[in-house]
Amino acid sequence: MEDRVLGLHHITAIAGNAQRNYDFYTKILGQRLVKKTVNFDDPKTYHFYFGDEIGSPGTILTFFPWEGVRQGRNGAGMATDIGYAVPEGSLEFWEERFKEFKVETGRLGERFGELYLPFQDYDGLNLELIVPNKEDSRKPWETEDLKAAVATRGFHNVTLTLRNVQPTADILTDVFGYKFLKQESNRYRFITDAVENAAIVDILEVPQAVAGINAGGTNHHIAFRVKDDAVLMDYREKVLSRGLQITSKIDRDYFFSLYFREPGGVLFEIATENPGFAIDESVDHLGSGLKLPKQYEGYRLEIEQGLPSLNQ
Ligand code: ZN
Repeated sequence: MEDRVLGLHHITAIAGNAQRNYDFYTKILGQRLVKKTVNFDDPKTYHFYFGDEIGSPGTILTFFPWEGVRQGRNGAGMATDIGYAVPEGSLEFWEERFKEFKVETGRLGERFGELYLPFQDYDGLNLELIVPNKEDSRKPWETEDLKAAVATRGFHNVTLTLRNVQPTADILTDVFGYKFLKQESNRYRFITDAVENAAIVDILEVPQAVAGINAGGTNHHIAFRVKDDAVLMDYREKVLSRGLQITSKIDRDYFFSLYFREPGGVLFEIATENPGFAIDESVDHLGSGLKLPKQYEGYRLEIEQGLPSLNQ
């Protein structure tokens, strides 16, 4: 089992104002900021990681907040929706809460027998709260407002919008070990039995979809989880053998990564469980300090002065 892809690891999206992004995910949605660092390729920008208490794989939503970023557009070749699992009976609570905080919501719906509530963060990123058919037993991060009866459990699924389901479906099934579960109108559901949760990828097939524009309020990439570096490198070979390009192994301090663009255009990452977010802060203090990769530690003062201030 352990040499398989273990569902989702994290999802990364683009935001505008850093404080607004922090407030939305911690205060309104009740996530924990488990790491405050910088974009390793652009240290003038924060990189926030939101998740459960320890930033368990399958709970982590990360952002690059770029002040004044232009608005992106969802479309073909992108992850266009992120689904969080919530407990049965909690959606009415969330509808009220979103009303109170002026969060844009869509109508309550049902698909694959699961109730869901669509909503958008303040940058226009599409999200959903979903009541899974099978209760999600992960331990939630709780806040003063959001106790276990309503708190999110981590990801349930992610939705990709593609012009053609098949090439991407082949990667999910032949390379990542997912199985096609079922189809509902133009939505195709794929699931892995390697993990209990964060195990679903949905593909919306929209042949006429215009290409997405990756900027504010859209997803940048989705990362799948593997146990360790050895498994990671096995997957590198598997992706290469499909004739696709893939990066070398990259050290992201909290995991090791590979990136490749799947044939439908979505940027896929494969990321390891090791070493995790407690490598440079204790679990109690996760997210409290600005953490820099070692190549930037010598520039800490300049980097701190260049970043927007953040009230936590
Ligand atoms: Zn990533």
